[in-house]
Amino acid sequence: MLEIRLEKACKWTRWPCVICGGATNKDYVIGVAYEDGKDAGKVCDDCIDLGAKGIAEALREHAENLRKWAEGLEKASHGEIRCRASLAKKKEMSKRIDDELVLENFKQACISEFDAVEVDIPDAPF
Ligand SMILES: [Zn+2]
Repeated sequence: MLEIRLEKACKWTRWPCVICGGATNKDYVIGVAYEDGKDAGKVCDDCIDLGAKGIAEALREHAENLRKWAEGLEKASHGEIRCRASLAKKKEMSKRIDDELVLENFKQACISEFDAVEVDIPDAPF
C-alpha cells in the first residue's frame, strides 16, 4: 500500500517528487510517500492535490516516462559518445562568467553613482 503523509520538512530545499518526477516546493511541511511503511520519497504539492485516484494515474504516467527515458539511455550508451566538456573547463568558464558579472555589477554601481543628480524636492505643503 502506498500512503501519503504530511511531515515537517527536515531541510529547506526542493526534493524530487516520487509520484510525478517533478519537484517539491521549499516549504515547512512536505508530503512523504510510504510504500508498505517504508519511506519511498517526497511528494510535490500538485500530486498531493491529485488525491488517491489522481496519484495512481500520475504514477502510471511517470512509470511510462521513465521506461521511455531508460530506453533512450540504453540506446545512447550503445552509440557514439563525444565528451567535449571537462570539469576543469566548466570551472574555468563559470569563473570567467562570475568575474564578468562582478565587473558588470561594479561598473553599474559606478555609473549609478556618477549619474546621480541632485533633485530639488519641493517643500511639503504644510
Ligand atoms: Zn509530483
